[in-house]
Amino acid sequence: MIPDPLPTLSRVFGFPAFRGVQEDVVARVLAGERTLGVMPTGAGKSLCYQLPSVMLEGTCVVVSPLIALMHDQLRAAEAVGIRAATLTSADQNRAESIARFRAGELDLLYIAPERASTGHFRELLASAPLSLFAIDEAHCVSEWGHDFRPDYRLLAPLMDAFPDVPRLALTATADAHTRSDILQQLGIPQDGLIVSGFDRPNIRYAISPKANTTKQIADVIAATPGPGIVYAQTRAATEKLAEALGRSGRPTRAYHAGLDPHIRQKNQADFVASEDMVICATVAFGMGIDKPDVRFVAHAGLPKSIEAYYQETGRAGRDGDPAVAHLFWGAEDFARARQRIGEVEPDRQAGERTRLAALGALVETAGCRRRILLKHFGEDRHEDCGNCDNCLGSPDAVDATETARKFLSAVFRTGQLFGVGYVEQVLLGQSTERSVDRGHESLSVWGIVDGEEAALVKPVARALLLRDALRTNAHGGLEFGPAARPILKEDARVMLVLPPKRARGGRKRDAG
Ligand code: ADP
Ligand code: ZN
Repeated sequence: MIPDPLPTLSRVFGFPAFRGVQEDVVARVLAGERTLGVMPTGAGKSLCYQLPSVMLEGTCVVVSPLIALMHDQLRAAEAVGIRAATLTSADQNRAESIARFRAGELDLLYIAPERASTGHFRELLASAPLSLFAIDEAHCVSEWGHDFRPDYRLLAPLMDAFPDVPRLALTATADAHTRSDILQQLGIPQDGLIVSGFDRPNIRYAISPKANTTKQIADVIAATPGPGIVYAQTRAATEKLAEALGRSGRPTRAYHAGLDPHIRQKNQADFVASEDMVICATVAFGMGIDKPDVRFVAHAGLPKSIEAYYQETGRAGRDGDPAVAHLFWGAEDFARARQRIGEVEPDRQAGERTRLAALGALVETAGCRRRILLKHFGEDRHEDCGNCDNCLGSPDAVDATETARKFLSAVFRTGQLFGVGYVEQVLLGQSTERSVDRGHESLSVWGIVDGEEAALVKPVARALLLRDALRTNAHGGLEFGPAARPILKEDARVMLVLPPKRARGGRKRDAG
């Protein structure tokens, strides 16, 4: 007989009911079955092991990748009266925690994955009864996941030493490939997979190419009252943005790991307490923060993956009220990402490339953004969402293959030496000293673009860079990439999405 979890749910946690798949996950865990729970951020993953840890005999060992996150969870668990401890290099009271574990006085023991490898630790675990292994952020075990951590590979052998202890793996971020990899790596059967719905219907997704990013984000802020997060890619960028955006009059702060810890903590605490603050942060910000009323998340550049995008935008609108997620991307983001892929181990490059291509498809689509997002997480929607920029604005998709071929020809004929601006001048036939000196005005591509097509040149350049048909060399000159030939030979077409008509020229409101 499996005991009824509802009385404990209400007595310990004060919740009247489970949310979504929590109930199924908890039931499997209480039945002693190995389980992988895939649930979006904010769905309440922690409860799936915390609740059984209170009900079951013995200690639940929780593996979590980030010490800071662990301490947040420790505080939250202790706050509801769960007996918990962390065992990390940052803990001064390790001896005390070990003694409590041995005496059977702990419901939860949080550990970092690198502990798992030591024989010492295995002996420790053998010295008292265990109720459950809970593996948080389980995608870290997979090389297909976006955040592979080799230490996670040590967990299976550790758990195998305790074959009767049930296993619960949890993640918010797993495409189908990563999911089956997690199951295999952690020895969880296929039927142990429980996936919850990923849709966040109250979040409106909008994605645009960068034009003047600071101005674009200032527009998002102006149109969206309430607290918001702006994600930037570097520490310096968070500070610059915070300064520029703060001029709007909205309280604005920066947050990154390089700040003085006191200032950082204060900025975070002030943000959590605020009803209108904008925080400009690196992506580490938001993990473990429980702020339900974030009204917008703006990305000042391309996220690392669709998973990362989903997770970061998922920090908006947790209270269920309308929220906006606006992403601004540039061709240079894709170039940089490609460069990074070149630097990872060869056997991981294919996965990284697939991930980048998925992001490319998301930002370039003329279709419903939510459908693409949900499809990525294995949910097939047959209807458009009506709550993304494309659904709301019906963008124009045009076949720009001809313009793309002209652009590539101009790059080639001018010797693969010049940047977008100059190539555009050549195509438009705008005479300059340089074009005279170089004799470019007699080229067949000189001035072959005019009229309405002129507006396509810059978007085409961006699309070619995104596809790796063009690359930027160290001097800023454009060179052919591997995708150039198929376009020139007309084996591949270049479809372009132009912004919705009503947004052109005028300013589009982001929230309503
Ligand atoms: P995740 O780890 O999936 O991002 P958390 O475990 O941090 O999510 O939970 C998110 C929030 O949801 C927390 O504030 C938690 O207290 C709350 N929560 C979890 N389960 C329930 C429930 N059954 N009913 C109401 N609130 C819940
Ligand atoms: Zn849509």
